[in-house]
Amino acid sequence: MKANFSYSQVTEKTIEDLISVFGGSGVSVDKEKVAAYSKDEVAVHLWDKNYEAEVVCFAENAEQISALMKYANRHRIPVTPRGAGTGLSGGAVPAYRGIELSLERMNRILELDAANLTMTVEPGVVTAEINKTAAAANLMYAGDPCSGDASFIGGNVAENAGGNKVVKYGATGNHVLGMEVVLPDGSISWFGGKRRKDVTGYDFVHLMTGSEGTLGIITKIILRLLPSYSFAADLLVPFDSVKRAIDAVPAVITKGKTIPCSIEFMDKCSMMLTEQYLRTKFPFSHEAEAHLILQFEGNDRESLADEIEKIGDICMEEGALEVFVADNRTTRDKLWKGRKSAAEAVWSYAPTQIANEDIVIPASEIAVFMEGLEKISRADSVKYAAYGHVGDGNMHVTLYVEEENKNWREIIEKARRDMYDMVKRLGGTLTGEHGVGLKRLMYAPQFLDAAQVELIRRVKLAFDPNNILNPGKIVPWT
Ligand SMILES: Cc1cc2nc3c(=O)[nH]c(=O)nc-3n(C[C@H](O)[C@H](O)[C@H](O)COP(=O)(O)OP(=O)(O)OC[C@H]3O[C@@H](n4cnc5c(N)ncnc54)[C@H](O)[C@@H]3O)c2cc1C
Repeated sequence: MKANFSYSQVTEKTIEDLISVFGGSGVSVDKEKVAAYSKDEVAVHLWDKNYEAEVVCFAENAEQISALMKYANRHRIPVTPRGAGTGLSGGAVPAYRGIELSLERMNRILELDAANLTMTVEPGVVTAEINKTAAAANLMYAGDPCSGDASFIGGNVAENAGGNKVVKYGATGNHVLGMEVVLPDGSISWFGGKRRKDVTGYDFVHLMTGSEGTLGIITKIILRLLPSYSFAADLLVPFDSVKRAIDAVPAVITKGKTIPCSIEFMDKCSMMLTEQYLRTKFPFSHEAEAHLILQFEGNDRESLADEIEKIGDICMEEGALEVFVADNRTTRDKLWKGRKSAAEAVWSYAPTQIANEDIVIPASEIAVFMEGLEKISRADSVKYAAYGHVGDGNMHVTLYVEEENKNWREIIEKARRDMYDMVKRLGGTLTGEHGVGLKRLMYAPQFLDAAQVELIRRVKLAFDPNNILNPGKIVPWT
């Protein structure tokens, strides 16, 4: 199936028309601003060209977005939605220039409905605000991406963001009950609602979730809340081998008869780079080859203490070097600051010669994957740091070349391809939570069969026949 990729340029008349929709303060052609809003967290030097929108618009409500989409269709100008720009796949990068649509001004928490255990929010609310607002009402919003202090909930839904609590509570999509969406033709529709069940028609809520801003613009979201817990504790568990650390994960779940709310992994390289980046020290950072971080929560302090003691014993039986308990605010914050800073720490060490990966495989294959990664690293002469949500089988691998090397792109590309072949063999896929976006689209066909690639194109064009909304993403089109 073919799509239109020929678009009109933004002219002075377009800017006048956009100002009539968004007002003077809702439209910017300022060069620096446009450049800043045309980026996400994918390093600009990794792109093959300079992707830059022609104008940025700041929406305040769904009606403005509806008017924009009708106008964009009439004049064939592409529109790229943007949340906080913390994305790691170029989803908010305007592949065909046009209009960048910022949702940052739609940032209100509209309602907390304790009776229905829901919160209704606009897309520009920062994720951590939602966590805090729910907690203040003794409730919990279980979405917890490492970028939660910066990312917006609309971006989380559009990416079906994962994070640190997926192993127990599921990814963002598990917490979305309904949404208001401006469709690419400008119509405004509600999918789902404050209902726990709904089989009236297709499940558009979960088609939109993870659609990376290509099928519609999410303008309101109804989130599912859970009862809160009273106490939480984390374990930091160093191991002298990566395999032993990974093998301990199923033991914790089956022998411990529990699913921790987080099971995170950091290899030695990412732990040491994080220490260096934060100028701090974590136990056994030099002696251990890998650390697990396990989080538990409960309503009774003593039974929580019993549970973590039991899990600690299991970890020691599985070969842990030691078990460190973080059960007060200061030590817990320090530990999670470390885990949540791993990405920046690794990138800041090797900023130019890298590839950041988000592969996901069946959790039982992670140890095999890590052994294979070590072999690829030696054979292809690349270094790597690996950390991630090991309980979900989701690993973030940063492949990098340490020495200044003009062939770094080819070297890393070879290692990346070798790694993807292994991921495919192990029953895994390209991205677990960061999305395909622009960054990974050429690799998508390796993991999706031809029928699926075609179906993705048909679904996209069924929603967006003129290919106006965030075109050129998810699968190759040309
Ligand atoms: C340090 C760091 C740590 C991270 N940790 C995690 C993690 O643990 N788990 C995880 O899953 N991700 C993580 N990420 C990636 C990123 O934070 C998530 O993908 C996040 O969901 C993006 O949200 P955003 O608001 O920044 O979206 P943006 O980057 O602005 O946009 C992302 C995509 O969503 C679309 N979009 C945004 N808003 C809307 C809307 N209202 N309607 C329709 N489409 C929209 C955009 O078009 C784009 O395709 C991390 C990123 C960084 C930098």
